[in-house]
Amino acid sequence: MRASNLYAPTLRNTPAEAEVVSHQLMYRAGMIRKSAGGMYTFLPLAWRTIRKIEQIIREEMDAAGGQEICMPILQPAEFWQESGRWGAYGEEMMRIKDRHGREFCLGPTHEEMITALVRDEVRSYKQLPLMLYQIQDKFRDERRPRFGLMRSREFIMKDLYSFDRDEAGMRESYQKMYDAYTNIFTRMGLEFRPVEADTGAIGGANSHEFTVLADAGESNIAVCTKCDYAASDEKAELKPIEVEVEDMLPLEKVATPGTHTIERLCDFLQVPVEKTIKAVAYQTDTDELVLVFVRGDHEVNETKVLNCIEGALDLRMADESAITAAGGCAGFMSPIGIKKGTKIIVDPTVMHMYNAVAGANEKDAHYKNVNPQRDFTNEGLIVKDVRLIQAGDPCPHCGAPVRMTRGIEAGQVFMLGTKYSEAMHAVFLDEQGHEQPLVMGCYGIGVGRTMAAAIEQNNDEQGIIWPRAIAPFEVVVVPVNGKKEDQLAYAEDVYNELKKAGVDALLDDRPERAGVKFKDCDLIGYPLRITVSPKGMEAGTVEIKVRRTGEVQVVPREACLQTVQSLLTTL
Ligand code: ATP
Ligand code: MG
Repeated sequence: MRASNLYAPTLRNTPAEAEVVSHQLMYRAGMIRKSAGGMYTFLPLAWRTIRKIEQIIREEMDAAGGQEICMPILQPAEFWQESGRWGAYGEEMMRIKDRHGREFCLGPTHEEMITALVRDEVRSYKQLPLMLYQIQDKFRDERRPRFGLMRSREFIMKDLYSFDRDEAGMRESYQKMYDAYTNIFTRMGLEFRPVEADTGAIGGANSHEFTVLADAGESNIAVCTKCDYAASDEKAELKPIEVEVEDMLPLEKVATPGTHTIERLCDFLQVPVEKTIKAVAYQTDTDELVLVFVRGDHEVNETKVLNCIEGALDLRMADESAITAAGGCAGFMSPIGIKKGTKIIVDPTVMHMYNAVAGANEKDAHYKNVNPQRDFTNEGLIVKDVRLIQAGDPCPHCGAPVRMTRGIEAGQVFMLGTKYSEAMHAVFLDEQGHEQPLVMGCYGIGVGRTMAAAIEQNNDEQGIIWPRAIAPFEVVVVPVNGKKEDQLAYAEDVYNELKKAGVDALLDDRPERAGVKFKDCDLIGYPLRITVSPKGMEAGTVEIKVRRTGEVQVVPREACLQTVQSLLTTL
């Protein structure tokens, strides 16, 4: 490929709306352009990278036993009504009607579609296990599309679905996919961690997210400082913190004017924060009030809260009127005196506290000597781990302290079990001729998000630093003065030699100043740059520069190919 034919409109300035580095650099490097909110066009450089990522994914899916198919993006509502998700998926689903008024959606994922396919095709245990996948556009009307390709409304996903005859088979398929994902992200040259994850709206028993470590990531992950435990903060399980037993003193109401926050309360009563109980009031999408209590220095994990409430899809902060109606007082709340029938969830650590401080459910008043085991007598009170892990908390596997780090969820694998096959009656006949539900798993990778994650992890002030495996081109050959025919011919000769040897090279034959071309090379981030200069031509050499390290070497023209090949194996 010649740069004079390449449509890569680079920019010197960053568009104002691009908040994260990957978005800024893809824009400036002439890789993507926005079509509308959360929708992007991939220009040639980006598309080359996308296709390389897809190729790596394809090879690993095929090697693990997957077979590629392609299902329609448009999906009839009936399948989703069968699974019960037509309502449950909510506003993220893009819905449309055809000319006859029949309802469809643009697929946000394909569990229903594939279950409907397989139930009509698979009859016998002899046809199992089966793994089918596709790579295609998905649609999700995200509440906040942002960060360019990281959270868009139309995006490319690889989704594979596994079908097994039993739980053991599903676990085997899951492990194959887990290993394939490990290979994929390793081959792409990314630093990543598989982390235990919440199963969210997809459902199912067990799940891992493959998280690319980067500060711009939206996932907070807890990583053990000793063992290999890692989990998203949404998921990380916590054991209750037990403290020394104390004599339970009598409950005492005290005036605490203006102490709306835990800090003020601790200041006012001169108690340590670990002796206080914090209340957070939520309302679900069905308007149910949920009061959650954690220790004063802990935070509520909303995902865990949501998982405790059957049928709820979303939480928002409760209205004051709802709190008052339940007998509570915003800012001064405890379970003591809350009306019967109100949903109350208490974190287990709270149940281990003695003589603590909690709200008195009236303005400017708290109780001292609250002993939850004695005082939280509300009927139906739920004691469940609902707190968010924080740095220093003990690892649930080995007890060593965890540290927190940020990452980008690039892929996720789920054990689905029989959730979809039972709802949609997808069965097979076993050896005895008995009907059994198919046992499923599903496995997604966001292709565009992975490209963005790679940039988040690999960049500097000059631009992108591509890992070789997913670089739009591996090498760029730049004649210092492209208007000089002899330099161009020399560069072309180097380029042809590389191409012939299978190196993915670009010839920058544009009649631009050297400075402009070098700036573009650094911005786009080709792993290697070969410079042809009059001095080098005279001496019979070329200059090879490694983008990642900035290291430059001058090698004889004859050694160029070999040097490039050996450098590429390290990048
Ligand atoms: P998130 O929690 O970030 O919204 P998700 O867990 O809903 O993502 P999955 O259903 O697991 O996403 O989809 C599989 C993969 O598709 C994700 O791991 C991610 O890489 C990608 N993906 C999901 N939503 C988007 C999006 N809005 N834009 C780009 N990629 C996405
Ligand atoms: Mg996910």
